[in-house]
Amino acid sequence: MLLNKNNKVTQSYDVIIIGGGLGGMTAANKLAKNGRKVLLLEAHDKLGGFATWFYRKGRHIFDVSLHGFPIGMVKTCRKYWNKEIADKIIQLKRVRFINPLYNIETDFTVEDFTSKLINDFKVSQEQVDNFFQLIMNMNYYDDKKMTNGELLEGFFPGRKDVHRFLIEPIVYANGSTLEDPAVTYGIVFSNFMSKGVYSFEGGTDLVVKMMQDELLKNSVDIRLRSKVGKIVIKDNVCQGVLIDDEFISSRVVLSNGNLIGTIFNLVGEENFTPSFIEKVKKVRLNTSSCQVYMGIKEGETIEDVGDLIFYSEAEEFQTDELLSMNTTSRTFSLYYPRLRPQLKNAGYSIVSSTNARYEDWVTLSREEYKARKEELIRATLISLEKVIPDIRKKIDYIESATPLTIKRYTQHEKGASFGTKHEGLEISMGLNKEIKGLFHTGSVGIIMSGWLGAANYGVIQSYEVENYLESRA
Ligand SMILES: Cc1cc2nc3c(=O)[nH]c(=O)nc-3n(C[C@H](O)[C@H](O)[C@H](O)COP(=O)(O)OP(=O)(O)OC[C@H]3O[C@@H](n4cnc5c(N)ncnc54)[C@H](O)[C@@H]3O)c2cc1C
Repeated sequence: MLLNKNNKVTQSYDVIIIGGGLGGMTAANKLAKNGRKVLLLEAHDKLGGFATWFYRKGRHIFDVSLHGFPIGMVKTCRKYWNKEIADKIIQLKRVRFINPLYNIETDFTVEDFTSKLINDFKVSQEQVDNFFQLIMNMNYYDDKKMTNGELLEGFFPGRKDVHRFLIEPIVYANGSTLEDPAVTYGIVFSNFMSKGVYSFEGGTDLVVKMMQDELLKNSVDIRLRSKVGKIVIKDNVCQGVLIDDEFISSRVVLSNGNLIGTIFNLVGEENFTPSFIEKVKKVRLNTSSCQVYMGIKEGETIEDVGDLIFYSEAEEFQTDELLSMNTTSRTFSLYYPRLRPQLKNAGYSIVSSTNARYEDWVTLSREEYKARKEELIRATLISLEKVIPDIRKKIDYIESATPLTIKRYTQHEKGASFGTKHEGLEISMGLNKEIKGLFHTGSVGIIMSGWLGAANYGVIQSYEVENYLESRA
C-alpha cells in the first residue's frame, strides 16, 4: 500500500528498508515475495534513488543515470521483478569514442572490441585473446594488489591509446581509476563487454513506475517523503527507525542509504566496536559527477549521431584530468524520441556527464559556484558542437548539476556517484555481525554499484536478511 506521510505507522514490520534506490527496491520486492512484511521508506517524493528523472519546461524529461548497463540486467529483472520489465530492456547499438587518439564506433561487444584492437590498433590476436581470457575469469576474491594501470601496461606495454580505449568507458561507468584494483575493472569490463550496453525502453520514469506497481502488488508498504533520522538500537539489537519523533518498529532494518552515512549518522559510532569503526574510517568514497541537461526545442530534430559518446580533447588519458574541474572528457548520452514510444510527442534530450570531486565544489562561494556551473555549461556546449555543429540553436533548455546536487537529492556522502570503494563491501556485509538485525545494500565496491550491481546486491542482502529472520524465528 502507498502510505500517506501524514498517517503515523503503528504496526510493526519484519523488515524496514531505508531508501528506494535499485538495491532497496529489489530487496523489498524479494523479501515481500517471500512473505515478509516490508515497509519501504524513501526520503524523496519518488522511488528510484539515482535511477531517477525530472521534468522541465513542461515537456522535457531528463534521465539522470540511464546511460547504459550490462545485459545481466535482463536476467535480474526477469528473476526478481517481472517479465514485462525485463522485456523493456534494449541494446544501445551505437557507442562512440572521439578523442585526439582515435574516432571509433562500436556496439561494445567482445567480438567488436577484439576486431577493433586487432584491425585499428594493430594489436596481435594473441595479446587480445590473452587479455580477454584473464579478465573474463577474474573473480572478486582474487588478489587485489595489481592495479588497472599495471594490468594494462602488462598486456599492452607503452600503448597509451589501447589503455585509453579499454579503460575510459569503465571509468565513466563506475568511477574506477588507473590506481584501483584490476579485479574490479575486470569484472565490470567483462560484464559490459560480453554483449554490449543496454537501456530501458520507456525511460527511467516508466521502469520505476513498473517497479513501484510490482512492489505494491506484492504487498510492500511504501511511504515517500519519509527521511529516517535514526536507526534505533537496544542491547545491540535493531528495534526500528525514527522519522522525526515517530518510531516505527521492525525486526530488521536494511539501509539502502550511503554506507558511511548509515553507520555514523543513522546508527551512531557508539553502537559499534572500536575495531570495526577503525576499519570504517579507512573506507574511501568513490568520486562524484557533474551533469549538463539539454532539452531540444519542440518540433526540432537531431540526426542520429550515436547513443553514447565518450568525448575528450585530452591528449592522454589521466585520472587527474578526468576529475579536474576543467576536464574536457565527458560522456554524451543522446535520448531520441524512440526511447519513449509510449509518449505521443516525446522529444530529444542530451545529458553530458563528467567525473568530479565533491571537495572542488563544496569549497566555492555562492558566486563562484554559480559561475562554475555556467562555465560547465559553456565548456559542454563547445564540445558538443564538435559532434553536432548546429546544436546551440536547437536547445531551448539547459541546466547543470554538481556533486552538491547529488548529495542534496540522495543523501550520499560527498555526492559519491558509486558509493564506496571496494573495501566498503566487507563493512557493508559485516553490519549484522556488529548489530543484530542491521543490514545494508547498495553502492559499495564497484561491482555492487550501477543499475545491475545495486539490484543484484539487493538480492544478495535479501538472502542475508532471510537467513537472519529464520535463525531468530
Ligand atoms: C550521474 C550518474 C550517472 C550514472 N550512470 C549510470 C549508468 O549509466 N549505468 C549504471 O549502471 N549506473 C549509473 N549510475 C549509478 C547507479 O545509478 C547507482 O549505482 C544505483 O542506481 C545506486 O542504487 P542504490 O541501490 O545504491 O541506491 P541509490 O540510488 O543511492 O538510492 C538510495 C536511496 O535511499 C534514499 N535515502 C538515503 N538516506 C535515506 C534516509 N535517511 N531516509 C530515507 N531515504 C533515504 C535516497 O533518497 C535514495 O532514494 C550513475 C549514477 C550517477 C550519479
